[in-house]
This record gives sequence, structure tokens and C-alpha cells, in this order.
Amino acid sequence: MFKPALIIHGGAGSIHRSNLPPHLYAKYHTSLQTYLRDTHTLLNTGTPALDAAVHAVSAMEDDPLFNCGRGSVFTRSGTIEMEASIMVTSLHPDHQNPQFVKRGVGVMGLKKVRHPIQLARECLLRYESGACGFEGSMHSQLNGEFVEGFAEDWGVEVMDPEWFFTMKRWEEHLRGLCPSSSSSPSSSSSLNGFSNGSSGGFSLESEGGEYLSQGTVGCVCLDQWGNLAVATSTGGLTNKWPGRIGDTPTLGAGFWAETFDKPFSSDTSVDSDVECDGYVLVGEKVGTKRAVAVSGTGNGDSFLRTAAARTACAMLRFDGGVLSLGDAVAAVAGPGGELQRSAGGRWGSGEGEGGIIGIEVVGAGEGDGGWGRVVFDFNCGGMWRAWVEDDVERIMVFREPY
Ligand code: ASP
Repeated sequence: MFKPALIIHGGAGSIHRSNLPPHLYAKYHTSLQTYLRDTHTLLNTGTPALDAAVHAVSAMEDDPLFNCGRGSVFTRSGTIEMEASIMVTSLHPDHQNPQFVKRGVGVMGLKKVRHPIQLARECLLRYESGACGFEGSMHSQLNGEFVEGFAEDWGVEVMDPEWFFTMKRWEEHLRGLCPSSSSSPSSSSSLNGFSNGSSGGFSLESEGGEYLSQGTVGCVCLDQWGNLAVATSTGGLTNKWPGRIGDTPTLGAGFWAETFDKPFSSDTSVDSDVECDGYVLVGEKVGTKRAVAVSGTGNGDSFLRTAAARTACAMLRFDGGVLSLGDAVAAVAGPGGELQRSAGGRWGSGEGEGGIIGIEVVGAGEGDGGWGRVVFDFNCGGMWRAWVEDDVERIMVFREPY
């Protein structure tokens, strides 16, 4: 009944032409195009939104270009602490379906799982204590060793620390701790032993002038049945404090999904061309429901301070039916928006920088078809994003083509 839609992001930040040479752009383009195509094919052949979004993010967690899974950045203590989240909503939720019981989960402080997003998915779907012991919970945020201890029993792959070591991230880590340092560890064995108490900002540019990815990833999908899913995964910020929890696993900050009644829901049976939230829906019925899902990337502490993801969705829900999701995302993550304003005089230091992607379901009357309007905005140099609109693939990093 619904035309599938999807959008992926691969991080936002201080990305400029001067630090993004063509060969690096080409790598991102190839990766994003591959994951976009695969996921679009899955959606078009009947894969539910939850599984499609997890598929896209799992692929990015294996790609060291992105700051998640294998390509995760290091904490200031030289450890890896990954975070991920998943959230679903639906125009027509089947409340017997486990994914709609809990709706959203964040996992954090992960050091071993190859695909943090798959652990988040299991935490979403497992919500009851089973006869054989603890098999799940209704908790919405789960941290560290305890939850990671279930990974293998739940079929989620666990890797040795070496899997997560990439020289590029290690060098970023060292450069951030001591900006003049050019030293590198002789082997990955120093990964867990490395400790340095110094603090320090970090440069977003390598010595070669290339952009250093902040690189959190996210995917928002609409499937054929009107289900929306959002999946997000990150290693966090380079040289974050150990134990720091960011926006990515925090409901309402780095991700959100919800369905709500349209404010003018009494009119559910208009059968001709109608105007709905600024869109003319040709031959559609106006539905009673509206559904949105968003994923953020950028300075997570700012996303937390502004509850960025839910703020954008709540603007639609409570505004009386005037705004589109595109308007709301721009008001939060666009130039001069809420995230930028939250940085105040610190704007320019990285604080407040970021972007949001999302999908708003349009024309979703009970029993009628609908489609997903893809939206995004960002307030910084660039945001890696790839989406399908009217069956045309788009891959961009800046506002204008590369
Ligand atoms: N939002 C992530 C964090 O602060 C980082 C990013 O999106 O680049 O952990």
C-alpha cells in the first residue's frame, strides 16, 4: 500500500571542498550508493522497515570509512565505546508484533559486538523473561557489559579488539590528545593498554588536509505496510571521556519516531484532490494519522541539550497542522536553527553542529496508499546523505553537487 522510501546519513561536520579531495569523495559515494541500492531493493521486495534499516546500518558498521562498528573512534583513554539505537512506528501498528511493544531502544558502552545495531534490534524485540531465564526486558536504554553479555546467545556476532582497531582512527586519537604528536603505536596490542590523562581538543583535519569523519551513521526507512524504522550507530566523538553517553542511544536526542492524529482528523473521507500540510494529494483521502521518523548526527552533547530529534517531531505534532517535517528539521538542524542557537557564543567550536535526516509519511488514509517524503537539513559544512526520491538515487555531501 505504501511506496517504500529511504534515506541514509554518514555523518555531518566540518566538511569542505578544501578537505574533501575527489578520491575521498569517490570512496564515500561508492559506499553510500551500494548501501542505498541494497536497502532499496530489500524494501521493494517486501523486507520490513526494521530489517531494512538494520541491514543498511550493519553494512556501514563494517565499513571503516564511517565512525561506527569497525571504524569507531577512540575515547581519550584509547578504548572503543560504541552506541546504537533503533525505533519504529507505524500507520497501522500490529500490537502483537514485538517491535511495536517497546518501540525504541538505545544500547551504549559496547566494546565487542561487530554490529551494535543488531544488539539494539534484539533488545527491541526481546521484552519478556522466558521460562529458561532472563531473555529480555522492557528497558529502553541498556549499557555495557551486561547487555553485551547476551550478544552471542542472541546470535549477535562478537569480535576481538583487533577488529575495531584502525590506524586512521588511532592517529586521529593521538593527534587530538597532543596536536603536535605524529607518533603511532607500533602495533594494535597497545589498543587497550593505552592511557593518557591529558585533555585536548581535536582537529577535524588530518595533516594532509583531508576531512576527518565524525561519521555517525543512520538510516530511516518506510516499508510497503506503512511502518517507519530509524536505526543509528556511532563510536561517538573522538577522545570523548570514557563513559560518556551521547545522543545516538538516547531517545529523543539523536533519534525519534512517532505516529499521531492529524489535528483536523475529523475529515477522513475527502476523496478528491485535497491540500494536506502544504501538499496537494491528488485523488487521495486525507488520513487521520501522520507518521515521522528522524536520525541525527553531529555534536551529540548539543543534541542532548536540545532534545533535538523529539523537538523536531513535537513541533509537527503540536503546531496545529501547519508545519511539514522538512520545516521542523530546518528549524532545529538548519542554519540558524535551535542547535546552532544552543551553542551561543561557542558557535564555531563544533558545538551545536550537526544535521538530521527523516521521513514523513504523506497521504496515509486508512486503507489507502501513501508515500514517504524524505527530508534533511544541516548547519555545518556538509552532511553525507543518500536517498531515493521518485525512484531516483541521490548522493550528496554539500548543499550543491560536489
Ligand atoms: N552524535 C555523535 C555523538 O556525539 C557523533 C556524530 O554524529 O558524529 O556521539
